[in-house]
Amino acid sequence: MRGASPIFHSMASQEIETLASALARLPGLGPRSARRAVLWLVKRRETALVQLLDALTQVRDRLVECETCGNVDTMNPCGICSDPRRDQTSICVVEDVADLWALDRAKLFTGRYHVLGGKLSAMDGVRPEDLNIGALLDRAAQGGIDEIVLAMNATLEGQTTAHYLAERLERYPVRITRLAHGLPVGGELDYLDEGTLAQALRARKPMI
Ligand SMILES: [Zn+2]
Repeated sequence: MRGASPIFHSMASQEIETLASALARLPGLGPRSARRAVLWLVKRRETALVQLLDALTQVRDRLVECETCGNVDTMNPCGICSDPRRDQTSICVVEDVADLWALDRAKLFTGRYHVLGGKLSAMDGVRPEDLNIGALLDRAAQGGIDEIVLAMNATLEGQTTAHYLAERLERYPVRITRLAHGLPVGGELDYLDEGTLAQALRARKPMI
């Protein structure tokens, strides 16, 4: 059966090579695990592969980025931004959508979010203009916001980003807070258990 051989290397077809190299670009998947995933899928062409194709198509066709906060959802503004039960006066700023999900799973923050889309990094050449910072300043400038929580990761770059944002936000009449450092140093939000995250949020501190 074509493609079912466990020995890929040069024997693998072009289709398999192409899929394996696309998968190998996913976070956490190297070339070896990508090939194993391809083989697994080839063996399940009629079941798991169909489901995966369907799910990928849904994601491609239905998901959009919220123009207000940068979240990913099927609507714009996203479900969180357009939920009237959410506190409209507080914004929690996170690096990535995964952090938004982690915080929202903890169910302690009732306000809305703002996703930067990364963090400042001299090493990776990420500058303020590369991040979704302008839209955050616009939201602060529009008024009606009492508190902005800077929920960056407890990494050097995360904290550099938080300090930069605190400075840029200083001129607006908002309270700027940060997560308490119950966060382990180097800790990334979406790896934390919900209890730790909830505690860090509850004990948040004034940033400046
Ligand atoms: Zn939104």
